[in-house]
Amino acid sequence: MSTNIKENLDNITSRIFKATRKAGRDPSEVTLLAASKTMELKQIKEAIAAGVRVFGENYVQEAKEKIEKTARKPVAWHFIGHLQKNKAKLAVELFDMIESVDSIELATELNKKAKTAEKTLNILIEVNLAKEKSKGGVTPKQVDKLVKKANELSNIKVKGLMAIPPYTENPEHVRPYFIALRRIAERINREKIPGVFLNELSMGMSSDFEVAIEEGATIVRVGTAIFGERKPKTK
Ligand SMILES: *Cc1c(COP(=O)(O)O)cnc(C)c1O
Repeated sequence: MSTNIKENLDNITSRIFKATRKAGRDPSEVTLLAASKTMELKQIKEAIAAGVRVFGENYVQEAKEKIEKTARKPVAWHFIGHLQKNKAKLAVELFDMIESVDSIELATELNKKAKTAEKTLNILIEVNLAKEKSKGGVTPKQVDKLVKKANELSNIKVKGLMAIPPYTENPEHVRPYFIALRRIAERINREKIPGVFLNELSMGMSSDFEVAIEEGATIVRVGTAIFGERKPKTK
């Protein structure tokens, strides 16, 4: 894989375009989120120059420096990692969206901090589709309850669902998980809960974003295919 960020992005953008066309969707319905954990500020700036407008970070402290040293606009930052409650305040200050909310306790804490900061925080509910112990997220059965409860919080807006399905070599093997996530959102939308409409489906990574788009992804989170391989974390 090339480490030329501009070249990689051009390639991914055209693949996104083709996948949306194949699915009969409009390319504007899909946002490319650059998953930039472990990447240096220099690479992030390169990606911004090449047209990236949304970044996803997994560690609050690591993201803080990058966000502060980057002109905020026109770039948005999403949190996509496991969020500890004691980082909620900083996360609310830094991020435009928290994609990985998986408990009412976390949602409540985020709401409290958002209230103090006088902002409305957009969130996604993370769903653990294969019930993997190593990953965060609520089980498919718990989604309804969490969406309804989070929806009652004054400074939280639930925009949709996010999932990190099990990794397999063959993206076709992940397709059923993408379908499952879409169906959960469709089912909840049919309930017509006042104030609830799940628009966003954050699913698909470097190895499978085209399949995710075919199944309705509105946000694809791509790291390696943009930046090249990550260096192993040394903490
Ligand atoms: C790192 C990461 C990605 C991107 O993974 P790649 O395989 O490098 O594209 C997507 N989503 C989450 C939650 C991540 O942590």
